[in-house]
Amino acid sequence: MRLPRILNQCHPIPGFVYGQARFAEDEQAVLIPVRPRKRSAAICSGCHRPVPGYDQSRTPRRFEFIGFWGYLVFLVYCMRRVNCGHCGVVVEEVPWGAGKHSSTKVYMHFLGHWARKLSWKETAEEFRTSWDKVHDAVAYLVAWGLEHRVLGPIRAIGVDEIQYGKGHKYLSLVYQIDLNCTRLLWIGKERTVKTFREFFAMIGPEVSAKIEFVCSDMWKPYLGVNRDKCSQALNILDRFHIVAKVNKALDDIRASEARRMKQDGYEPVLTKSRWCLLKRPENLDAKQKLKLKDLVRYNLQSVRAYLLKEDFRHLWNYESTTWAGKFLDRWCHQVMCSRIEPLKKVARTLRAHRELILNYFRARKEFSSGVIEGLNNKAKVTMRKSYGFRTFRVTELALYHSLGKLPEPELTHRFF
Ligand SMILES: [Zn+2]
Repeated sequence: MRLPRILNQCHPIPGFVYGQARFAEDEQAVLIPVRPRKRSAAICSGCHRPVPGYDQSRTPRRFEFIGFWGYLVFLVYCMRRVNCGHCGVVVEEVPWGAGKHSSTKVYMHFLGHWARKLSWKETAEEFRTSWDKVHDAVAYLVAWGLEHRVLGPIRAIGVDEIQYGKGHKYLSLVYQIDLNCTRLLWIGKERTVKTFREFFAMIGPEVSAKIEFVCSDMWKPYLGVNRDKCSQALNILDRFHIVAKVNKALDDIRASEARRMKQDGYEPVLTKSRWCLLKRPENLDAKQKLKLKDLVRYNLQSVRAYLLKEDFRHLWNYESTTWAGKFLDRWCHQVMCSRIEPLKKVARTLRAHRELILNYFRARKEFSSGVIEGLNNKAKVTMRKSYGFRTFRVTELALYHSLGKLPEPELTHRFF
């Protein structure tokens, strides 16, 4: 069987014919000539309509195709120019290529598929291509996907930030967190009012008006824009962020108390206690359990804070909003009497956001909480995998590509 026959089977190009394949001079690549079928019209790259031809270039252009058996494969074609009544004399559009991309669409598909499983660098090495080509492929797929995706209706969104680059630089990520659809919707370069407004501008007022739940942390710009742009939605404070705040306070208390004890020459009972205090008791190993048992005998600020933290977990078990509210008030009151400053700070914040926290109970079972945390972990993994991605643009592409659930162009044949 000859190569053109296989190609016509898996990658037919209407209006074009495959020629006889040959090896390139260095024998490491297979070149497959392509020529237009006789009297077939060319397509104008400006308006995508069939138009009369003008002339044909003599310099063949190479389009990289999916390689096999250790060979690189290229389609080789001399581009025609067309004389379009609308666009003037322009170069034609070929069905296997996309604009100025030097790879065929199927090859970009192929690389994009692997770039989700491997890092971009590994993908490039594995298929003997360059990082830039992998980047190009992902950029093509993401652009296509963003253009063809259907946004609405969206019931619930979650907003979160993720640290990137060096120093305190944050990206805002907006996810759709409906029960049947979770995906990354949008990436903002900062976490300011202005950036977050851009998200609502992107989805437009019609889709915004149908959002019922917005899940976010206590970051002021998010809360403000939610109120402004999506006033009908219930703003819910994400449980994960609240728990993280309490844990962070406990950790600070333990660290500074351990330091104080060391300075004052006490027995260092708090060393290696960090995870005993932070983890849930049921997740501790035998050694940590023993350590914790020993620890609670001391009258330490860390221990008192630990007990308060453990008590706080009961909040999430409430079914009724009223009772959850009562519990929250009692807990905050207890903390305010405790003279443990870092926890008091948390209690003040919780009091200030009381209604938003209780929205968690009002919206209960309407969407799966913890989804945002899961998605954000995936985002972090993607960013770690894309080691060396420095620019915002590249990070954005990688995140859309792995978390956006973007639609992809249909292929005649599954090559992978
Ligand atoms: Zn045209």
